[in-house]
Amino acid sequence: MFEKVLTRNFSLPRSESIDTYLANGGYQALQKVLREYTPEQVIEMVTASGLRGRGGAGFPAGRKWAFIPKDPQIEKYVCVNTDEGEPGTFKDRELVEKDPHQVIEGVIIASYAVGAHRAFVYIRGEFFLGVKRWIKAIDDAYAKGFLGKNILGSGFSLDLSVHRGAGAYICGEETALIESLEGKRGQPRKKPPYPASVGLWGKPTLVHNVETLANVPHIINRGAEWYASIGTPKSTGPKIFCVSGHVKNRGIFELPLGVPLREILYEYAGGMAFDKKLKAVIPGGASTPMLTPDQLDIPMAFETLEAAGTMLGTGAIIVMNEDTCMVDVARRLMRFFAHESCGHCTPCRTGTTRMLALLEDLEHGRGKAEDIERLEEIASKMRGLTFCPMGDAAANPILSSLKLFRDEYEYHVKYKRCAVAA
Ligand code: SF4
Repeated sequence: MFEKVLTRNFSLPRSESIDTYLANGGYQALQKVLREYTPEQVIEMVTASGLRGRGGAGFPAGRKWAFIPKDPQIEKYVCVNTDEGEPGTFKDRELVEKDPHQVIEGVIIASYAVGAHRAFVYIRGEFFLGVKRWIKAIDDAYAKGFLGKNILGSGFSLDLSVHRGAGAYICGEETALIESLEGKRGQPRKKPPYPASVGLWGKPTLVHNVETLANVPHIINRGAEWYASIGTPKSTGPKIFCVSGHVKNRGIFELPLGVPLREILYEYAGGMAFDKKLKAVIPGGASTPMLTPDQLDIPMAFETLEAAGTMLGTGAIIVMNEDTCMVDVARRLMRFFAHESCGHCTPCRTGTTRMLALLEDLEHGRGKAEDIERLEEIASKMRGLTFCPMGDAAANPILSSLKLFRDEYEYHVKYKRCAVAA
């Protein structure tokens, strides 16, 4: 049985309160850091732990921290990405609602390491409980002297506040998040320059996802070596997997990275609901290419999923049974991406809209054989040609469902109805 790390407090009464957090070893890592470690040593520890971002891209956290300029005269910022808009993903919300101080402690340590004295929480506006929990937790952390001026008498000061976004998928992308935080329309910026050199208000900015920051206090408390011993050599540490769809037990499961997909589905999620057959799995959120039942032994790690032509993404596993129409899945996903396209670049703005129209026609029996080719052509041409990664995100599920389930598209054209309903 894997020892829970990030979710260890979730079942405690009033797990979100600062008293519960303190009673269970909370803020000890911060005290240790402020008393014993230089910022450089903290960055070294995080680098040695192998922690990689949990928001989707999996970039090594220590390297990201090391990119922030060291000059104390330059103002720097830390942003906590609580936007979590990837369909199927609901782990950051749980972390904020059930144990916000774990994340705050990670934010303070990260800010100390990169020399930031101002940090912002950017949260999706409709996460009402999350907003409430963030605000209460931040107030309590100020009251106990973990935030504000001269934290615990160390001379280090940090202010942290909450900014509610309006609920746009693209604001989960770090530069769009920064634009939105600056009060502008949430649209991505051209990279480079990356936020580590030119970020919020033109200053170096560290943007991290909630789950990534929640790992930090544990790395300090238990050591980089302990952390690196969990998972695989290239994907270290614990991971919160979100499982949704046609399984018996939907929810979050904290497990070591590298755990086989089969184990997550059949041991933790209880197997297929109503004992239906498994048809396909989206392994890392809606934008990641699908896997099929013959690929269930794949370890859920960055490198293994990449080798299989897909991605770990946010670790959001969406399970589909034999009764699922894959054309309808593609249509629903495209409806999401077409709605969420920020409109900045043509391939994504018109590509998603056009693909949605083709999928609507196919799904409703109006499709023609050439529509399948047209769909494939648009999706292929979007990949790598859009201003931000959302173009690839929108194209991925279409290309993968066409590759794996083309016969279902053809059935829709030939019989004007769905193969699974036949
Ligand atoms: Fe906006 Fe282009 Fe990114 Fe789509 S790919 S979200 S239109 S910047």
